[in-house]
Amino acid sequence: MTETTPNHTQTVNGWAALEANGKITPFVFKRRKTGVDDVTIKIIYCGMCHTDLHHVRNDWGITLYPLVPGHEITGVVTEVGSNVSGFKVGDRVGVGCIAASCLDCDYCRDSQENYCDKVQFTYSGIFWDGSITYGGYSEMLVADKRYVVHIPDSLPMDAAAPLLCAGITVFSPMKQHNMLQAGKRLGVVGLGGLGHVAVKFGKAFGLHVTVISTSPHKEKEAKQRLGADNFLVSTDLKQMQAGARSLDYIIDTVAAKHSLGPILELLKVSGTMVLVGAPDKPVDLPSFPLIFGKRVVAGSLIGGMTETQEMMNLCGEHNITCDIEVVKPDYINEALDRLGRNDVKYRFVIDIAAGKSML
Ligand code: NAP
Ligand code: ZN
Repeated sequence: MTETTPNHTQTVNGWAALEANGKITPFVFKRRKTGVDDVTIKIIYCGMCHTDLHHVRNDWGITLYPLVPGHEITGVVTEVGSNVSGFKVGDRVGVGCIAASCLDCDYCRDSQENYCDKVQFTYSGIFWDGSITYGGYSEMLVADKRYVVHIPDSLPMDAAAPLLCAGITVFSPMKQHNMLQAGKRLGVVGLGGLGHVAVKFGKAFGLHVTVISTSPHKEKEAKQRLGADNFLVSTDLKQMQAGARSLDYIIDTVAAKHSLGPILELLKVSGTMVLVGAPDKPVDLPSFPLIFGKRVVAGSLIGGMTETQEMMNLCGEHNITCDIEVVKPDYINEALDRLGRNDVKYRFVIDIAAGKSML
């Protein structure tokens, strides 16, 4: 058992990687007692983001071990602190990537907490009290009220869980870059967890959506199930050339090193590509497709709390949920392996309650 700080009095069962590339194993640890601003949550489901895999493998060289991954958390409130008015026991809530921010900078004041330079994440971060944060591959979470959102009643708790990271990560740049305009042409690179939600947002807002993928076998489902209008295999030169200058915007969700050059050629003049995928090595960015098309490449990191709630509400109204495969905690290692092999449609979600008997 890991001891953290003295206020950590609540014992929690979870699942952790103890070292880089280590297998995920049952792990008992402590969380802080519910503070005045805290919301304590019985976790019901937790999505498995590719970022979890990057962290388990220490791809980015920043992982703190033991690592309890998981930042696509849905659950039910079991206790609230005395300063909490927006949440009550029994509420259906979600927690995404953010555990803490300074609350005082321009970005925090503007609810862009994700860009606060003191932001701390739901796992592998350092909370205000000095403790290492542990994520949602666990039975219970104590979260500051500022980083908790309501889940609309119309959304199922399992298929809504990935919205807390995958959903907001594609929604935020779509809003920022004014992409949510009916009739515009959107390209989505990489049809995985993030990508499939981007396709759904695009279709919900009336855009023409093209999937750009390394996996030809995903075409049928992309069109029939997700409603994509077009599908380009990125390794097929002819298809890529035929798509030149056809798109207004592109969201690139690819988790591995690749070249942006051929993808940029798909943008119209002045088109914008937003990178949200976070490969461990720099992507290739040739200058010619940029300068000959006056194109823009931008980045984006998850989203702020106000827009996370806005996105959740929109998903409730438009009935947007994720396509998921629900797994039990004893399947986490296999699920991570499959995620690394690009073998998931399109998000694994852990049924946390099913793990009780396995601890
Ligand atoms: P995912 O489910 O694994 O999807 C990634 C997709 O990229 C795959 O489905 C695949 O689509 C494509 N791909 C092509 N070549 C690949 C390769 N060699 N290895 C892996 N994928 C390849 O991952 P995700 O959860 O959507 O996350 C995608 C990336 O976004 C990760 O790097 C993650 O860390 C990052 N992320 C960033 C933010 C942010 O705030 N910016 C937030 C969350 C996640 P095709 O088969 O269609 O080619
Ligand atoms: Zn994530």
